[in-house]
Amino acid sequence: MKSILVVGAGPAGMRAALRAAELGAQVELVTSGEFGGMAANDGPIPVRTLAHAARLIREARQLGQYGVITSEPVLDYSRLLLRVQEVVEETRARSGRRRDFESLGIKVHEHTGTARFTDPHEIETESGLRLQADAMILCVGGVSRRLSLPGFN
Ligand SMILES: Cc1cc2nc3c(=O)[nH]c(=O)nc-3n(C[C@H](O)[C@H](O)[C@H](O)COP(=O)(O)OP(=O)(O)OC[C@H]3O[C@@H](n4cnc5c(N)ncnc54)[C@H](O)[C@@H]3O)c2cc1C
Repeated sequence: MKSILVVGAGPAGMRAALRAAELGAQVELVTSGEFGGMAANDGPIPVRTLAHAARLIREARQLGQYGVITSEPVLDYSRLLLRVQEVVEETRARSGRRRDFESLGIKVHEHTGTARFTDPHEIETESGLRLQADAMILCVGGVSRRLSLPGFN
């Protein structure tokens, strides 16, 4: 049986690991941070929660036009960030992905820090884990490029 190591647990890495296991490979998945990658933790889910708060404020400001009298809404940004964290955690808890991984026998290593190759069949993580496999699938997402323009932070 071929062993496969998938690096990165975003949507791409999760799909790759599940498919490899369905096809009969012995699969391990390693990721520097949280299971779910950007989609679950830093991207669409947090952004949609922030957008929902913006819509609620916009609607609350229209209440007077419809005869509903309230005071002006005030944003408590710290409370909003806590709500974002709650939604991320609720979504993670409800996701069936973990169970799919367990039922297919895929071993998951989370919060390992960055993984680097030590040779074509071995990686080492910042946390000191060394993992070997016949083949590696890299699903490490992307990073935005810093532009060398004045004022770009
Ligand atoms: C604000 C925002 C909103 C978005 N909204 C949408 C949307 O509405 N719809 C949509 O389809 N897409 C949306 N996206 C894009 C979507 O989140 C990405 O396309 C998707 O997450 C990419 O998946 P991925 O698996 O390729 O990478 P990622 O989700 O980035 O996962 C890569 C994983 O690899 C890990 N990793 C990276 N390097 C290493 C390493 N060396 N060693 C170990 N682990 C490593 C990272 O920790 C991460 O967990 C949004 C993105 C953002 C930022």
